[in-house]
Amino acid sequence: MERKQNFSRKREAILGTIRSTVTHPTAEWVYQTLKPDYPDLSLGTVYRNLAQFKNDGVIMSVGIVNGQERYDGNTKPHTHFVCSSCGAVIDIPGEFIPKEVSDEVAEKHHFKVQSSEVLFHGVCSSCLQRQLPL
Ligand SMILES: [Zn+2]
Ligand SMILES: [Zn+2]
Repeated sequence: MERKQNFSRKREAILGTIRSTVTHPTAEWVYQTLKPDYPDLSLGTVYRNLAQFKNDGVIMSVGIVNGQERYDGNTKPHTHFVCSSCGAVIDIPGEFIPKEVSDEVAEKHHFKVQSSEVLFHGVCSSCLQRQLPL
């Protein structure tokens, strides 16, 4: 019983940490953030829970950025911009694929489209500022 409570407390903490930030963190970041409060937490536990949350649709994966998977606690439809310079993943409100396009794809290929997403790649405003010639 004791163990089980401890286990669900960690689950809650991992989910809460993902939801508390808009930086789309990595599993490693979640682990480092929680480690002081949960000294017996392992990186494996963080990965397992994140995979479970993802399967349950409680969190989303933004994909792999600079070799590390990035997670998002915001599961409402929105779009991402990935900075190729600093690796920042920034939220952009709105969806950029009109329903007509999904319908066209569905019809043309005899698919049933459930969702679609756009991912913008480029250089974020703070990196652009840093790159300005002095
Ligand atoms: Zn940047
Ligand atoms: Zn997001």
